Amino acid sequence: MPSPQRLAVLQTIQQRQPVSTPPIQRLDELWASDVFSLDKMKAALPKDIFRSVQRTIQEGGKLDVSVANVVAQAMKEWATARGALYYAHVFYPLTNSTAEKHDGFISPQGDGSAITEFTGKLLVQGEPDGSSFPNGGIRSTFEARGYTAWDITSPAYLMETPNGVTLCIPTVFVSWTGEALDKKTPLLRSNAAVHRQAQRLLRLLGETEIAPVNSSCGAEQEYFLIDSAYLPLRSDLLLAGRTLFGRPSAKGQQFDDHYFGAIPERVQVYMQEVERQLYRLGIPAKTRHNEVAPSQFEIAPFHEAANVATDHQQLTMTVLRSTAKKHGLACLLHEKPFAGINGSGKHVNWSIGNATQGNLLDPGSTPHENLQFLLFCGAVIRGVHLYGPLLRAVIATASNDHRLGANEAPPAIISVYLGSQLEDVFNQIREGRLTGSTIGGVMNFGVDTLPEFAKDAGDRNRTSPFAFTGNRFEFRAVGSGQSVAGPLVALNTIMADSLGWMADQLESRLGSGLSLTDGALAVLRTVMEQHGNVVFGGDGYSEEWHRMAVEERGLENLRTTADALPVLQRPAIRELFERTGVLTPVELESRFEVYAEQYILAIEVEARLAVQIARTQIYPVAMRYLGELAGSLQLQSAIGLHPSTETQHQLATFCGELMDVSEALQLALENAPHGTEAHLGFCAETLVPLMLQLRETVDGLEAVVDDNLWPLPSYQEMLFVR
Ligand code: ADP
Ligand code: MG
Repeated sequence: MPSPQRLAVLQTIQQRQPVSTPPIQRLDELWASDVFSLDKMKAALPKDIFRSVQRTIQEGGKLDVSVANVVAQAMKEWATARGALYYAHVFYPLTNSTAEKHDGFISPQGDGSAITEFTGKLLVQGEPDGSSFPNGGIRSTFEARGYTAWDITSPAYLMETPNGVTLCIPTVFVSWTGEALDKKTPLLRSNAAVHRQAQRLLRLLGETEIAPVNSSCGAEQEYFLIDSAYLPLRSDLLLAGRTLFGRPSAKGQQFDDHYFGAIPERVQVYMQEVERQLYRLGIPAKTRHNEVAPSQFEIAPFHEAANVATDHQQLTMTVLRSTAKKHGLACLLHEKPFAGINGSGKHVNWSIGNATQGNLLDPGSTPHENLQFLLFCGAVIRGVHLYGPLLRAVIATASNDHRLGANEAPPAIISVYLGSQLEDVFNQIREGRLTGSTIGGVMNFGVDTLPEFAKDAGDRNRTSPFAFTGNRFEFRAVGSGQSVAGPLVALNTIMADSLGWMADQLESRLGSGLSLTDGALAVLRTVMEQHGNVVFGGDGYSEEWHRMAVEERGLENLRTTADALPVLQRPAIRELFERTGVLTPVELESRFEVYAEQYILAIEVEARLAVQIARTQIYPVAMRYLGELAGSLQLQSAIGLHPSTETQHQLATFCGELMDVSEALQLALENAPHGTEAHLGFCAETLVPLMLQLRETVDGLEAVVDDNLWPLPSYQEMLFVR
């Protein structure tokens, strides 16, 4: 029997009904109804102004400031007609969160009346406090000026809450001195860098008409949903986003009966409301299903331009969280909310392309004949080999460390999976004899009534952190709670660098008289000779790969965030970002400082919380039970029985351990070393193992203490009762 507090929670949950939601609307009524879309601008703006806006958005032309006044006016009229009294410059600080500064449209008049007002200047430029957001030392409180600036390429939208509507305007966020304090600025710069180098390579391939090259992203979001009634009894979930303690449930995911199973009704109602909101915001939610672990789910949108997809991904996380509250649920975006079962990732599907040449990572059915594809794919292989540690660094967080290299997630070693067909083509290139591509063949089910279809030319590999999946790469190691901007910036930047290198190499080979085909194959052969080691099609989870990758292939295994973040300080990385114009050395250094601080804070908060829960919630209960047991044993002895004292001994041992380990953890917390790198290492090597040790003790106690006394909702309850 669970403790009275837990029982009360379970009874509340038993009585829950799916929340009734507004009547279903048709997609055409719903779609982008809260977005100040190109359609709406077209209807509201004079023709020449609209054309100028369209040119900036679609062709990357410079924003003409004189159009801003006209756009601002139209935007205000649309928003106020929908009930908005406020507008907000929305920006993306270095914390993975979304920030907003709200201002009223109100303008008081001399005669005591008030009107609404919104000028081009207010649309284009805002001024939040630059020192109050993590900036890695770029800004101090005495030099606080920071600016937000309108990103016209990401559409403005309305955020509706029960008591108001706000016009939200996506912006970049920079300091008065011009350094990026956000995640959007480098993303936009990285797209520009890819465009510059891709254009060079395409010209060498003979293309004359080349539209702006941009990156695309489709981010598959995994998450857990549990009933929100558990949270008040679980301060670890509430404050750290994950359970610091908890014995595995007797039934976990062993039966594989959750993955793609029927979606529970309450959850389905929730998902539909999330999707409706996303549709209103113009976010193309496309796929929903149960994930592997109990109470784990996934939502994936259709892919979009990376900058818009990134803003939409942030909004998706916001909508997932806020809608859950309405449904009496808690949406957990942490990478590992529950030990012992799968954690959550966010697969970032990434490609680059443009309107004239299409998807530059599309191999077609005969990739060996597709020089353009081979060069762009070769650029990826080179980039991932040279800068694999950077890709590891941009997914390094305290929470993702629990997941990477565990049994369900790719290892911390960054390799590339190409699939059998492409691996074969690139091996032929390496050997200098490119003859053909294997084909996928036909899928035949052996049953006449079932359709035959063409099979893909390559299988899937779920163990690879970075896999080619037909016409894009899938970066599978990204954390579920992360902004996708960092990974996209890294991918675009290494791609720009590699494309630049390819173009240089090809130019010099063409200059020495080689034909385009021979020149391109020679460049690709060099790529495979120098970087082919990063291509791996086997089981990335295996111990053999962990050994082979490091010992034979020279790849790095950066196990923890403490190992991975210092990569940002390597000279080669500094030069990469500087050369491509994506981040200045000061901006890069500030990122190292901010991410290191975030890691340290996350671990230290968890450690303090672990000590607190262990001492104030678990220890008293365990001692009480020990007392009860002692009484009962005494009673039994008094009437001549010889009861077993094993449980009593176990309890006493665990209680002693609990006090020892929690004291050691407390002491460690008080004696953290100075200096960022030392502090990082200390968290990974001292605090995390001590927390794990404390967890083992507390989980051991959970197995012996009377369930009627145990204060924390169990894994079994949280994962299976909703
Ligand atoms: P799965 O990987 O589970 O098969 P899907 O086929 O649904 O998932 O695709 C995953 C994501 O990849 C979706 O968001 C989809 O839009 C996106 N995607 C598809 N093509 C591209 C592309 N060329 N560039 C970027 N993302 C893409
Ligand atoms: Mg996928």
